[in-house]
This record gives sequence, C-alpha cells and structure tokens, in this order.
Amino acid sequence: MADSQSNARLRADAGAPISGGPAVLPFQTCDGCERAFRAPEPGHCRDCRRREEWLPAAA
Ligand SMILES: [Zn+2]
Repeated sequence: MADSQSNARLRADAGAPISGGPAVLPFQTCDGCERAFRAPEPGHCRDCRRREEWLPAAA
C-alpha cells in the first residue's frame, strides 16, 4: 500500500515552487470586497485597486 506516499509525491511535484521562480504570495483578504487574493501585504484586491484608479476620488 504505497497510495499515500505516491499521492504525497504527486502533490509535491505539482505544488512545489520552482526554485528561482516568483515567490508564492500569501493570501490576503481584500479590504473592499473581502475577497481572498494573493499579495505581499494586506490591502485591496486587483479589482478594487483598478476600480479606485478608474473612479475619481469621491469626497
Ligand atoms: Zn476587492
């Protein structure tokens, strides 16, 4: 029975980051829509940040 062992190896192969590649960013929760997104630090997700750029700052 080497099922668990081969599964673990498969998952490691698929999920292991390639050394020298981009670092895997941690998940953050968007301050605007509470969506989970990857970023180096907390803030707004890509969608919310783009929306902020497009919309004029409301008073
Ligand atoms: Zn958002």
